[in-house]
Amino acid sequence: MPNSESEMIRTIRERAKRKRGSVALGIGDDCAVLRPRAGEELVVTTDLSLEGTHFLLDRHEPRSVGHRCLARGLSDVAAMGARPLAAFLSLAATTETPQRWIDEFLSGFLALADRYDTTLAGGDISQSRSGIIADVMVIGSAKRGRAILRSTARANDIIYVTGTLGGSAATLERLLAGKEPERRAWSQRHFYPEPRVRVGDFLAKRKLAHAMIDCSDGLSVDLAHICEESGVGAIVNRDLVPIAPGAPFAQALHGGEDYELIFTASPKARIPVELEGVPITEIGWITREQGRKSGVYLTDLRTPPQPLEPRGWQHFRNKP
Ligand SMILES: [Mg+2]
Repeated sequence: MPNSESEMIRTIRERAKRKRGSVALGIGDDCAVLRPRAGEELVVTTDLSLEGTHFLLDRHEPRSVGHRCLARGLSDVAAMGARPLAAFLSLAATTETPQRWIDEFLSGFLALADRYDTTLAGGDISQSRSGIIADVMVIGSAKRGRAILRSTARANDIIYVTGTLGGSAATLERLLAGKEPERRAWSQRHFYPEPRVRVGDFLAKRKLAHAMIDCSDGLSVDLAHICEESGVGAIVNRDLVPIAPGAPFAQALHGGEDYELIFTASPKARIPVELEGVPITEIGWITREQGRKSGVYLTDLRTPPQPLEPRGWQHFRNKP
């Protein structure tokens, strides 16, 4: 049984340490007051996390659920090349949700917020009749006109991806099969994904990327979004895709929730091969024509490129 609403708000307020700077007023009033720096504009993203759809109570520890909720929003902000400022959390728990679950959820949420200087600046608490619902809004800021969009990839751009792909999906598959995944580094990409905030910021500051998206639904789907929005095609060299250890190739292509960044840059841009320990890998190039279907093609450089069907993230639709 959770604590009363007012008690919960008081606890959250105490735990959500306010940062100086862009959050002029945090929890406690009717609205938060944000004060972006002169010459900056705000980017805003919201993400729902639903019990049974995005997490399973018996497989995900509450700390991980809180972490993943916020990671999704931070990753979206990173994908715009923006810097996170504030998060807003609306949480609905059931009468059966133990207070301990909520406390641990907040621990995961706030630990990640702290690492990326993001203030929990407001939200709402309510009771849910059907499972836990967490709605997270993250607000970030970017220099005016400098947010990196999906729609600005250019022909001949090189396509890059951060980190490795498929680790989250591979872990999830083991979870759903009832096999407790071993506590290996790559299974942490599922439970505690690290949003690539610093890479996004680095690329934006140096104007290195033409187009960017975060890999939340899977490479085949997210790269297709860039192609669609930019009106271009993409060819991915299958030998270059960085596959997470323990993940099959198909999951590196289609598995979701890795929260890596996919971006395109001019062939002349000097993209580092690693940034703060995060590898950045060239995986293909952008073509002028979108061609048929999603615009994404896969090649091994020995045979003609084949269309790569966008087969994305199904969450727990295939839950046994
Ligand atoms: Mg996204």
